Amino acid sequence: MKVLKFGGTSVGSAQRIKNVAELVTKRGKNIIVLSAMSGTTNSLVQISEKLHNEDIDGAYGVIEGLKQKYARTLEELFENKEYLAVAKEKVQACFDFIRLHTMSNFSERYEKEILAQGELMSTNIMHAYLQSIGVKSVLLPALEYMRIDENGEPDYDYIKDHLFTLLKVDADIYITQGFICRNAEGDIDNLQRGGSDYSASIIGAVISAEEVQIWTDIDGMHNNDPRYVENTSPVKELAFEEAAELAYFGAKILHPTCVRPAQEHNIPVRLLNTMLPEAYGTLIHNVTETNRIKAVAAKDGITSIKIKSGRMLLACGFLKKVFEIFEDNRTAIDMVTTSEVGVSVTVDNTKSLDCIISELETLGEVTVEQDMVIVCVVGDLKWQNRGFEADVLNALRTIPVRMISYGGSNHNISVLIHKNDKIEALNLLSEHLFNK
Ligand code: ASP
Ligand code: MG
Repeated sequence: MKVLKFGGTSVGSAQRIKNVAELVTKRGKNIIVLSAMSGTTNSLVQISEKLHNEDIDGAYGVIEGLKQKYARTLEELFENKEYLAVAKEKVQACFDFIRLHTMSNFSERYEKEILAQGELMSTNIMHAYLQSIGVKSVLLPALEYMRIDENGEPDYDYIKDHLFTLLKVDADIYITQGFICRNAEGDIDNLQRGGSDYSASIIGAVISAEEVQIWTDIDGMHNNDPRYVENTSPVKELAFEEAAELAYFGAKILHPTCVRPAQEHNIPVRLLNTMLPEAYGTLIHNVTETNRIKAVAAKDGITSIKIKSGRMLLACGFLKKVFEIFEDNRTAIDMVTTSEVGVSVTVDNTKSLDCIISELETLGEVTVEQDMVIVCVVGDLKWQNRGFEADVLNALRTIPVRMISYGGSNHNISVLIHKNDKIEALNLLSEHLFNK
């Protein structure tokens, strides 16, 4: 069995839902994981924000708009009146649930319950549609098996037990919700924005799937960002580590958390295109192609922080003190470079920046630079290889580079540059590394 995950745009209109239905029925008995229809989760976030600010009328406005969009989609999708009624009833139940929350004091728990409605609607619609065209589809309610523990990690034993019980019912196709889950308290929760990829990977790991397929509307992970660079091309194969670095450092096609469950259970992940289903896409597995640079990605919104101190010279424990300050402020560090008298780090979360800076100032002189971008080059970059680092830096010789990080893994070289240089840097890298 395979796990096939379809994102919001793949189920974003009546026509797209029909396309996915056709695509999945041709592929046999698999588990289909769906996101909410595109735009829905954003609207649900908006509704929650308005309720949080006690703007009830504003919330009603967004709810009404969303409701009409669903009503139009359903009318267009269903020819069969009986299943149209079924789908309408399911969708109505979700909207009734959201409306119910407009009446009580808003809380974070309510927000999560509201966010869950998007995936509940898309899966119920697909389920009803498949039945309307004669496919024996069975719905696997994610809230009955997907669970995270106190640390927010998947509770694999629980998931396995409950999912296997649900899978005992025979079907042509199983449909389930991405993104949503229950937490250790049993309350409705989620796997963070974009988390449907993660759901698919967890399910793939639990059932030892033959493959996890992430269907989007691009033919795989490209070797550079197609929004800024012309002539990019899909990368045929990536090692798990390479895909993880690319996803983390900016490639939008795959959520970074998605790689780990598949990697740990050695389940291949394939990125495929709903608009071009026969295209090869990208295969992510536990094989590293040697002697090749594979792809480039960029992560925006980075802040660099330099701590310079004479006290670092020959001192033990200086770095520990620096890192502890970030840890105490619950801020993850992305890149690190050191010299004998200073250390530079980058962060993307600046919520606690003021606190961090004032604490770091007790250790030395602190310089902060905002609006930076990490450009990450991924491939077979083990140290014994010759020339790859030189190729990367040579490509960027006209760009001012603030930090360079290499040797942290065998797969990555990262450089930190200013955001104004990003597009030029990405183009130069493509020119020098891929379009020679
Ligand atoms: N619907 C959720 C979101 O928009 C989860 C997902 O699409 O992966 O974040
Ligand atoms: Mg996504």
